[in-house]
Amino acid sequence: MTLTLSKVAKTFPDGTRALNPTSLEIAEGEILSLLGPSGCGKTTLLRIIAGLESADAGGTLSFNGEDVTRLPVERRKIGMVFQNYALFPNMSVRGNIGYGLKMAGLPRAAIAARVAEVVALCRLEPYADRAITALSGGQRQRVALARAVAPRPRVLLLDEPLSALDAALRTDLRDELAELLRAVGTTAVFVTHDQDEAMAIADRVAVMSMGNMLQIGAPEALYRRPADAFVARFVGNAMPLGGRIEGDRLLIDGAVLPLAQPAHGTTAWVRGEDIALDDAGPLPATVDAVTFLGTHYRIKLTTTGPAPLFSLHHGHSAPRPGDTVRLSIPPHAILTLPA
Ligand code: ADP
Ligand code: MG
Repeated sequence: MTLTLSKVAKTFPDGTRALNPTSLEIAEGEILSLLGPSGCGKTTLLRIIAGLESADAGGTLSFNGEDVTRLPVERRKIGMVFQNYALFPNMSVRGNIGYGLKMAGLPRAAIAARVAEVVALCRLEPYADRAITALSGGQRQRVALARAVAPRPRVLLLDEPLSALDAALRTDLRDELAELLRAVGTTAVFVTHDQDEAMAIADRVAVMSMGNMLQIGAPEALYRRPADAFVARFVGNAMPLGGRIEGDRLLIDGAVLPLAQPAHGTTAWVRGEDIALDDAGPLPATVDAVTFLGTHYRIKLTTTGPAPLFSLHHGHSAPRPGDTVRLSIPPHAILTLPA
């Protein structure tokens, strides 16, 4: 199902402007992630799509071209998965998954058939007759997804479904959820404040800040061509380099760094993985701190730039705090952005 938002905005009765006019099209079967810091309006937008919150006058929402702006939540055919799963603890896995179908008045045999189908799809066969309380966090998450999917919703809405889990489990479940959502094939909107999660799960990511949708694109496009400094920082932790852009060069600290592309703005940015310690590099720096992180060292550096730079260094040894080093940055890794 195609989902179209046109100038959807939300001001709450107390005057809080949670969402500025937002227009967006989500394609059939697409998984879109809304990514942004806490309070930027992600849940508000999701609740408007669900019909749990009304959009301000002037905004419209349509499903496959049908205007659903005023359609009540129970008639929108939406599936929802929340952070806390909101499962019924006194019912079995099968009972939970079949609940929506029972409410819809489906015959018993049809319910059993659909539940069996979804149980298989979500790989819940071994647990189908267990009580919810006898399941792990990851299994509960699968049940929550299965329950949302069972009534064949037109769109699936997921609001930070991994946030309640601890870090190690989250990474596993993130990949599993990405696989499951693709297997289910339903158009989905996935809310998260975690960049890795958004990139791992979504076909396209919409970056939000303070009620505005700043940029929307495939994970790689956002990462390689962020539209502004907020997106560059939020997606991949870009850092300001300082210096002055002149034509196709960055002049910094007496050094000249070539740019791979014509500048898109007046400020230069770089990511930690693109800063190499290199005796022949053009940029001088002082080592402030070194943190060993197993796969790499994280080296805090002072240059003449506006903020410390952090280099992610994959060597077998690292310099020490106080050392003077030289840095090189490949031309393609220098992002130029509006000030
Ligand atoms: P997110 O999900 O990105 O963390 P929300 O959509 O929950 O953000 O909130 C966006 C903004 O709207 C925040 O400033 C929040 O405090 C405000 N907000 C959310 N719900 C209400 C409400 N019912 N009444 C007033 N303000 C609200
Ligand atoms: Mg939220």
